[in-house]
Amino acid sequence: MPTTTNPPPTLRILSLDAGVQSTFLLKVATTGTWARMWNMSIDAAIFADTGWEPPEVYEHLDRIEQMWARPAGIPIYRVSSGHIRNDILEGRSHGSIPLFVRNPDGSDGHLRRGCTDRYKLQGIRRKVRQLLGYPGTRRIPAGVRAEMLIGFSEDEITRVRPSMVRYMTSRFPLIEHGYDRDDCEWDLRTFYPHPVPRSACVGCPFHTNAHWRVMKTHHPDQWADAVAFDAAIRNGAPGPARAGQPLRGTAYLHRSRLPLDQAPIEHVTRREARAARLRAQWTASVAPGRTPLSYATADPATTHTDHTSDAPAEHTCSPWGCRSDSEPADEART
Ligand code: SF4
Repeated sequence: MPTTTNPPPTLRILSLDAGVQSTFLLKVATTGTWARMWNMSIDAAIFADTGWEPPEVYEHLDRIEQMWARPAGIPIYRVSSGHIRNDILEGRSHGSIPLFVRNPDGSDGHLRRGCTDRYKLQGIRRKVRQLLGYPGTRRIPAGVRAEMLIGFSEDEITRVRPSMVRYMTSRFPLIEHGYDRDDCEWDLRTFYPHPVPRSACVGCPFHTNAHWRVMKTHHPDQWADAVAFDAAIRNGAPGPARAGQPLRGTAYLHRSRLPLDQAPIEHVTRREARAARLRAQWTASVAPGRTPLSYATADPATTHTDHTSDAPAEHTCSPWGCRSDSEPADEART
């Protein structure tokens, strides 16, 4: 993994996805002593915007920019490669979101994820090239590079992947310092008395049942948007069909391969139940009486346990590594 520290990088940039971990890293990077102790003095932060984040993510981003980045003189660049929802529905892009598929023979399929590369990584690379002084496709000399600080925590070590380009090297400060997500959340509470929303597209197929339940209960406008999108892509996105690559079978946002408004989102998977139990134990031991910082973990009462649909744990969407250790492998397109 290219984590070169010698010679020093030309620029040091925080990849800010605005979830708990990268929010915590922004606080570290904009706090003088802390930034020096962690060797995390940064030149900029980059937020890659798919255009379909929930409004609370944009509010959170504005707030931390106002509170921490601006006073420290650190620019936060918002980069965009389009609007993932509109591009898919209007046929401008294949989108490549990881939809669940019911194949014509009744078997299960799952589209490969290409959306983070298209809507996040490409914009980040463009911006990094520009900041390094080599925009477009200009050749970047050896030795000119940006060190990207990525907020994977110790509990996410399986998501770590090497950088795919020579002019960007990856560094994982939370793993260097043995911080897991709960450590970040705990320290962050001292500085940030607001919920940190989970950064992900409103209609991401990787949402857990818990996330869908919170959305349905607390953000009905987002839920309606996701339900409408789910119905609209039942026969696949318009773009591939126009390009002569229609979907074989039917597509869904929920892993049950049922329409979202009929999907069994009230069911609690084994993994969710275990995560909730561990979180409750952790909370009781270190912070009795506290409420979760992250809105998506503030799940309302759960009543069922579904042992047959064990969805993968949900992370903030990152362009730098798989969302889970069960990334889809099978394609359902012709
Ligand atoms: S949140 Fe989901 S749909 Fe959006 S870019 Fe990430 S993986 Fe794709």
